[in-house]
Amino acid sequence: MSNKLKVVVVGAGIVGSSIARVLSMYENFDITLIEKEPDVGWGASKANTSIVHPGHEEDPNVHPLRAELCVKGNQMWRTWAKELEIPVTWQGELMVFTNEDEEKRAREYVKLAQLNNVPGVRIVYEKELRVLEPNIGKEAKGAVWAPTGGLISPFEAVIAVVENAVENGVKLLTETEALGVKVSDGRVKGVETNRGFIEADIVINAAGLYSDKITHSAGVELDFYIRPRKGEYLLFDENIEVKPTRILHTTPTPITKGVYAITTVHGNVLIGPTAEDLPREAKDDVSTTTKGLDYVYQEATKLLKEMPPRSKLIRTFAGLRPEPPGGHWLIKAYGDPWGFVNAAGIRSPGFTSAPAIAEYVVKLISETYDIRLVRKNNWNPYRRDITRVNNRSLSEIDELIRKNPNYGEIVCYCKTVSKAEILEAIDRMIKTGIKTITLDGLKFRTYAGFGMCQGSFCRWRIGKIISEKLGIPYHDVVVKRTRYGIGDIKVLWVEKSR
Ligand SMILES: Cc1cc2nc3c(=O)[nH]c(=O)nc-3n(C[C@H](O)[C@H](O)[C@H](O)COP(=O)(O)OP(=O)(O)OC[C@H]3O[C@@H](n4cnc5c(N)ncnc54)[C@H](O)[C@@H]3O)c2cc1C
Repeated sequence: MSNKLKVVVVGAGIVGSSIARVLSMYENFDITLIEKEPDVGWGASKANTSIVHPGHEEDPNVHPLRAELCVKGNQMWRTWAKELEIPVTWQGELMVFTNEDEEKRAREYVKLAQLNNVPGVRIVYEKELRVLEPNIGKEAKGAVWAPTGGLISPFEAVIAVVENAVENGVKLLTETEALGVKVSDGRVKGVETNRGFIEADIVINAAGLYSDKITHSAGVELDFYIRPRKGEYLLFDENIEVKPTRILHTTPTPITKGVYAITTVHGNVLIGPTAEDLPREAKDDVSTTTKGLDYVYQEATKLLKEMPPRSKLIRTFAGLRPEPPGGHWLIKAYGDPWGFVNAAGIRSPGFTSAPAIAEYVVKLISETYDIRLVRKNNWNPYRRDITRVNNRSLSEIDELIRKNPNYGEIVCYCKTVSKAEILEAIDRMIKTGIKTITLDGLKFRTYAGFGMCQGSFCRWRIGKIISEKLGIPYHDVVVKRTRYGIGDIKVLWVEKSR
């Protein structure tokens, strides 16, 4: 019988996945990562601004843990992104001010940068600002320049972290919803799920918006509630003349880091978010509104000398921040019940901080439960990205096609994605333990469907590849949570053409 401690991590967002990865470095644990959705990273970790924050916006006197782990997380992503081949860019961040009042507020962040040891943060004025960002808005008078700011592909980051954790022994269970933590005699015994009981010595709650529910089921922090705070975005096509070259944002207010204009790691212009507190129970409300979208568009005129034309808008979306009371992350290992650990209410800058949160949580577990951590000799830090056709030279593509003709069959023309990439992504999903291969899951892994046409050309083709590969009827292919056959007329045409 194994003498490893059985650990269940609830929630495969960036926080739960990163904790699973760090735990997998040690011999001490037998780790199961459970996720209620069909895929990993579909909560707050998917729909956000994608910034690896420098750490100068966190007040260490109010949120010391956020300040410490944000700066550390920014550093750690430099290593993690290389090890895991996650798309990331380090172009620095400009907090733009347009008047004296904003300048006064912006100056406070230079002081915070000093307190948090964030390197290189300083005020720049018009002349230098226009050199740093040639596309800056005409109203801009100056900015706080934070050179360590970066951008990451958030959904690919979660996928990469999970793939690597699984490679190192973590078991992933998707479509597995934790219904409650079972506690007996002051100790955690396991987790009740929709698929039955999973025994555990330690349960780590990283359930994002729902982490309050899991916490209450363990009998602790009964006054801890998460409130969803909505952020709406506009996403524009890659093919735009005036794009931000730095991370640009307006001066923050007490509840938001301001409105951003960025060029994502995949070349799209992203503008947003709003910050709207929703009622506690509105944890599924990811609707967008004309009011919110007009607001972010208007705010972004302070940032860019020429706004992306509305005709180039390809998508609007919203994300929900898991906002804890007072903005304080709840990270704690409990003695009563022994074995219950919270990584709850991880609001911004949670993505940036996730690797550092993971190290912090594992240290906390080792100290609280007196566990002497033993490093694995064979722990593999590396994960290889999917082999992609896009951005390769013709000779390289020829070479790929010679080895595998499926690289010559382009499925998505907007993002130049080949059939071979779709097939590789399906194989990886199966290997990772994902039970249902979804069209959305393939979109996040291959970018097929992320272009100007938003999948109207390629989606049915990809559905056909899934159907052939898995030997399932075409109408049974799942889009996100529902089957393709429901509500999509193309299914009839494809089925008829067989
Ligand atoms: C609009 C917006 C903008 C943001 N911008 C940034 C930014 O630029 N930079 C930054 O650093 N941070 C940003 N953040 C914050 C960041 O996205 C979050 O802090 C981070 O993603 C939280 O990760 P998580 O894993 O805790 O939560 P989530 O990603 O929500 O993961 C929780 C997971 O738990 C699963 N789950 C829930 N209940 C159960 C259950 N009962 N059983 C099983 N699984 C369950 C969910 O399905 C989900 O996958 C932003 C957030 C938002 C919404």
